[in-house]
Amino acid sequence: MNEKADMTIGNNSDKSCRILRVEKSSIYDGRGLRNVVFFKGCPMQCAWCSTPESQSFNAEIGIDLAKCINCGECAKACKKGALQLNGQPVLQRELCDGCFTCAEVCKKRAIKKYGLDVRTTQLASNLVKDEIFYFHSGGGVTLSGGEPCAQSESAAELLHELKKHGVHTSIETALCCSWENIKTLLPYLDCVLADIKHMDSDIHKRWTGFDNSTIIENIHQLDSSDYPFSFILRFPLIPDINDDDENLYALAALTRKLTKKLQSIEILPYHRLGSITYKYLGRDYRLEETSVSTVAHIEERVNYLRSCLPGVPVMA
Ligand code: SF4
Ligand code: SF4
Repeated sequence: MNEKADMTIGNNSDKSCRILRVEKSSIYDGRGLRNVVFFKGCPMQCAWCSTPESQSFNAEIGIDLAKCINCGECAKACKKGALQLNGQPVLQRELCDGCFTCAEVCKKRAIKKYGLDVRTTQLASNLVKDEIFYFHSGGGVTLSGGEPCAQSESAAELLHELKKHGVHTSIETALCCSWENIKTLLPYLDCVLADIKHMDSDIHKRWTGFDNSTIIENIHQLDSSDYPFSFILRFPLIPDINDDDENLYALAALTRKLTKKLQSIEILPYHRLGSITYKYLGRDYRLEETSVSTVAHIEERVNYLRSCLPGVPVMA
């Protein structure tokens, strides 16, 4: 399937979106307990991404070879000839159309399904079923990914449906898309959690595949918006990539210009959850040699940023 063509999914009149999964009862993705809708597909390829199975806009499979018993049922079932048994299942991804027949026949559940096309109205009605739970926990629904703004029309429909039922709505976005896409969602959002990964555009591109010019422009646009959402800037703290004084000072300089809406900065310490998924996808994890920071190092970096930013809450 053509990757660029797939990026338009949901931006048509069929009111469907491609998601990875819905996770229930998260405490990490906005206020209260939240159901999180992970959209499939992101224009960026961050080296530290903890959900690499969300990056491709295509539906795809992952193979957990530790569970596989080499029975060959998946290869027999694959009509595209994408799977061959060669001591173990070997996948030619360019031939795979994401039909998931192989996952259905695998009795060992060694094949995982990544990607699901759903009607936005059906998804909304399923999410609304938990409205009592949102009410009592002060939570709601968060769109995450992948990049929800890359499927902006279907994401807007989903948010609109949720707002009709009074559900609190948030989005986690890397802002790596056009302002037009982002603007479509703002009338239906209570909170925007937006990432910035590195202040140096060349280094940003090296580690994410995307320079930061559009992202920084979008950050300024968000801060000057008249819509009443709350705005939180998030910064993944990655050892030896973006946690140096110079970069944190530059982050503080950007933040000082966000005087209208920005409420706080959230630091997201590096973790390695999800690194096994790169193996399922047959991809290399670029940060294989990177260790998780000590608590003391994270605290020291957060305190440094705070010292550059009096008056702006920095949370970790
Ligand atoms: S069907 Fe499952 S267990 Fe059998 S070879 Fe394929 S992945 Fe392995
Ligand atoms: S998802 Fe479908 S096309 Fe792809 S490997 Fe499995 S059976 Fe073959």
